[in-house]
Amino acid sequence: MTPELMRSLIEATARTIEQRAEELTALDSAIGDGDHGFNMARGFNELLTQKDTIAALPLGAALQKAGMALVMKVGGASGPLYGSLLMEMGKAAPPDGRTPTLEELRQMLQAGIEGVKRRGKSERGEKTMLDVLCPVVDALGTAIERGEDDTAATRVLAAAAWGLHKTSYMLATKGRASFLGERSKGHIDPGACSSALLVGAVISVLDGKADK
Ligand code: ADP
Ligand code: MG
Repeated sequence: MTPELMRSLIEATARTIEQRAEELTALDSAIGDGDHGFNMARGFNELLTQKDTIAALPLGAALQKAGMALVMKVGGASGPLYGSLLMEMGKAAPPDGRTPTLEELRQMLQAGIEGVKRRGKSERGEKTMLDVLCPVVDALGTAIERGEDDTAATRVLAAAAWGLHKTSYMLATKGRASFLGERSKGHIDPGACSSALLVGAVISVLDGKADK
């Protein structure tokens, strides 16, 4: 992966978070403490600050550094969770720093998700970011299995949107939203929303640029 591509990924994700921070905070005000947009903006601003240093590293090290920056900068529960996601993805990246294949990318994401589950002691179905990330990795797996590399982006985006939507029917059993019990239903989860937005931002950069 070229430094330019990594820079584009950081810029696109940071821009998306900045533009949607208010929305994320509003979602968190409904079922949490109203800081998710602020937390995420702080973290991704830090990535922007460290953009050139991160982009100069091989992919695995770059993701680990970015993950560490999120752990250090993001105050809420989401910092260590997104940090684990990126750090574990980085550890699972191809060792020679080359651009991962789609299957390698799937394995990296799967490793990242396992990191989130370990850190959060959480599973899919508990109304968290995992309810977007898990369907996304499954959709990627399906596209690869069927040899549909061209439609992987569409499949993944649909899975993210559908996963996000479904969180509104779920009862939160992890994080602050779990304090609300039944009243957590009827709202989409803020972390699931930031995950879906980040997936969209990453795809907007990667789609059509897989070999760079
Ligand atoms: P905090 O809850 O500390 O205020 P944020 O508001 O930044 O942190 O993030 C809240 C989001 O973090 C939730 O919407 C949810 O998606 C995610 N989250 C919280 N706890 C967990 C967990 N144990 N496992 C996975 N995701 C979690
Ligand atoms: Mg919060």
